[in-house]
Amino acid sequence: MSNHLKPYDGLKASLLTQHGKESVICPEMLNTNGLEVIHVTGYDTDKLGTFTRDIPRYGSQLEAARKKARVGMELSGTQIGIASEGAFANDPYTGLIPWNYELVLMVDDTRNIEIVGFFGGEAQSASKLASSWDELTVFLSEAQFPSHQLVIRPDDEYQLECRKAINTIESLKEAYDWAAKLSKSGNVFVENDLRAHTNPTRMANILKATQDLAKKMACLCPECKSPGFSITETKKGLPCRHCGAPTNLPIANMWSCVKCGHKEGVAITNQDGADPSRCNYCNP
Ligand SMILES: [Zn+2]
Ligand SMILES: [Zn+2]
Repeated sequence: MSNHLKPYDGLKASLLTQHGKESVICPEMLNTNGLEVIHVTGYDTDKLGTFTRDIPRYGSQLEAARKKARVGMELSGTQIGIASEGAFANDPYTGLIPWNYELVLMVDDTRNIEIVGFFGGEAQSASKLASSWDELTVFLSEAQFPSHQLVIRPDDEYQLECRKAINTIESLKEAYDWAAKLSKSGNVFVENDLRAHTNPTRMANILKATQDLAKKMACLCPECKSPGFSITETKKGLPCRHCGAPTNLPIANMWSCVKCGHKEGVAITNQDGADPSRCNYCNP
């Protein structure tokens, strides 16, 4: 499915961000696709939502990214816009581990398409209600402080007044004293700052989503030649090597085009059947 043509080579795109995402998105787009991404500022993206619960997100993850991309294109006058939006939940396997979904969107008005890059991985998103400075300091290794920064507020997570981007023990103590003084309950609520520039785990996930997007942008539809031909579905049913019954392992990928809707199923080759340990009959 790869192609030697680079449909974005030499073109310009905008990226609206105030959280340092240009440091991973710009080099990746230039190296993989030859696309020059211009960092755009001058609009407060926090107006479209924050992770600190003070401003709810503008629509879905995709809608928020689309809004940012459009604003960036307007401010810079480019016909191509890139934007990223993150979300936090629990992991999809056990539901116990903090998880981070990163979406990086490219809007291309020259071809009238959108391509979405996506990645889900572990988050560094810890929080603690602490009743003393000693209790707070015990939490610091779990929070990966200071490489990952902190937010602190009086009383509980719903208190709107807070201090963000805390990255030294001195500023943490100062912010703790501030929050403890304002606290009615005697507790302070401390948590990881989830903004990209304060959370290297999240920034690494944004890079992976950007790589997913870059790969899709470089892959052309065999039917209409539009960029954005990618795997959108996986078919399960790889037969067991021992008894031949279908297993839950993938047997084929379904590729789809964002422009014309062309679909192609491609068998996953180089596999000689599923291991019997993955078979419901051989290993129930
Ligand atoms: Zn079997
Ligand atoms: Zn197509």
